[in-house]
Amino acid sequence: MKQDIIDLKRRNILKKSLFGLTAVAAVSIVAPNVYAADELPELTEDDPMAMGLGYKKDTATVDAAKQPKHAADQSCANCALYTSTSDTAGTCTIFAGKQVSATGWCTAYAKKA
Ligand code: SF4
Repeated sequence: MKQDIIDLKRRNILKKSLFGLTAVAAVSIVAPNVYAADELPELTEDDPMAMGLGYKKDTATVDAAKQPKHAADQSCANCALYTSTSDTAGTCTIFAGKQVSATGWCTAYAKKA
């Protein structure tokens, strides 16, 4: 009888340990790179998605001939999709997992209301 109780306790400890290990493994698979917003890597102009949307780190360098909708006063800092994380950068709902430059611009620009 006493041996049965010890076996049950041991089994419960093992179950809980396995559950804990499984939970840790699952979290690391689902969220392998969890960064604070201001620690996200910078979006580069040669990123395939950035290239597709004509992203430029500096709105002043946008080629007006290629981007006729661009205006000099448009930048990420005054775009509705931008959330500032510092004076110079922030996150953009289009480019999840990256930081864009506050002075940047892309064709998805939408004036902040
Ligand atoms: S959608 Fe707006 S915030 Fe995002 S990169 Fe383009 S201009 Fe910048």
